[in-house]
Amino acid sequence: MIDRFLTMASHGVLRADVVTMLLYLLVMTQLTIFTVTLYLHRSQTHRSVDFHPALAHAFRFWSWLTTSMVTREWVAVHRKHHAHADTEHDPHSPYIAGIHTLLWKGTELYTMASQDKQLLASYGRGTPDDWIERHIYTPHCNWGPTLLAVISLTLFGVGGMAIWAVEMMWIPFWAAGVVNGIGHWWGYRNFETPDKSANVLPFAIWVGGEELHNNHHAFPSSAKFSVRRFEFDIGWLVIQVLAALGLARVRRVAHVERSRMDYGAARPVPLAPRVKVMTAFFRKVTLPAVKDEMRRSKSSPLSMRLHRALADGGRWLSADERANLNAWINARPYLRTICQLRTQLAALMESRNTDHTAEALTAWVSAAQASGIDSLQRFAFSLSEGLIAQRAPLGDKIQ
Ligand SMILES: [Zn+2]
Ligand SMILES: [Zn+2]
Repeated sequence: MIDRFLTMASHGVLRADVVTMLLYLLVMTQLTIFTVTLYLHRSQTHRSVDFHPALAHAFRFWSWLTTSMVTREWVAVHRKHHAHADTEHDPHSPYIAGIHTLLWKGTELYTMASQDKQLLASYGRGTPDDWIERHIYTPHCNWGPTLLAVISLTLFGVGGMAIWAVEMMWIPFWAAGVVNGIGHWWGYRNFETPDKSANVLPFAIWVGGEELHNNHHAFPSSAKFSVRRFEFDIGWLVIQVLAALGLARVRRVAHVERSRMDYGAARPVPLAPRVKVMTAFFRKVTLPAVKDEMRRSKSSPLSMRLHRALADGGRWLSADERANLNAWINARPYLRTICQLRTQLAALMESRNTDHTAEALTAWVSAAQASGIDSLQRFAFSLSEGLIAQRAPLGDKIQ
């Protein structure tokens, strides 16, 4: 009797081998990752996809069981992040809190923000508020992981507790640490968003597609995070499968790809004018000018950090780095003109006074056309075409 009890305590009712336990861990953690990206993020926060009520509740239950996160708190903290990304009001910017804090103590930043009542009131609207939310999921959010620990211990014995411990660290590390930290720190950028978001990997399978973070900041309300031919978003694949089964309805998708499929009633998400124009300016004016300069002067390529600074005006550099960059630019009048006009254009894009902006944009176009720089003139022409043709300053002429 005692022997049987000891065997069960050490191996659990399944008496599983290590491979089975690792497979169990992988399935459980991936289900949690999909719950976060599909339900909490894409559906509840950004309303880009709706799920069948039964599936939506299964996601809620899974979030409670495996993470103890409350939907309203997660949504509110993330919406505030989008509203103030990489500023001092961002709940979790690696530029404000530090990358190491994000990676290893990201959950503490999240918990601190989620306890801010004002933040919850301002950003947490529209999340579930039914009986089970008010009586179980919110007030007893820690019961979920406790129940999971009991299940784990019963199935796998002592080894189950190790699995449970890894599960408890999974979202804090991969979501709060890697996505919120590295996703604003390291990677490539498709779009010149006003923040520092980056695509960590083009083949986004490990964190549910969240690796494509720059694309997401450019199109926050798109259910699909991949936008270029070589990019893959596993979360979007799952949404398509669920939609085919009648369990999901896509509301909005980004329309960057030419070969866009028909997603039923899903509305295309336009790129914000500012992002569209500044991305086009970097691709069509700044980048060719820098490459040309490198070729002519046969100088070594700029560091990635300075290269990036040319795209965003160097606002993220230290004082010393900015002084170096300015000296480098000032020694090249051709690039200096481009950088000055980029700064002016970025300020115009930020302006909320539309009358003033239209007038100032016309003046900007004249200055660019008078610059004598071919790429700048072509850019100014396409910008003015957008101005005239659509009366909205920044039409689809810029790609
Ligand atoms: Zn972000
Ligand atoms: Zn988001």
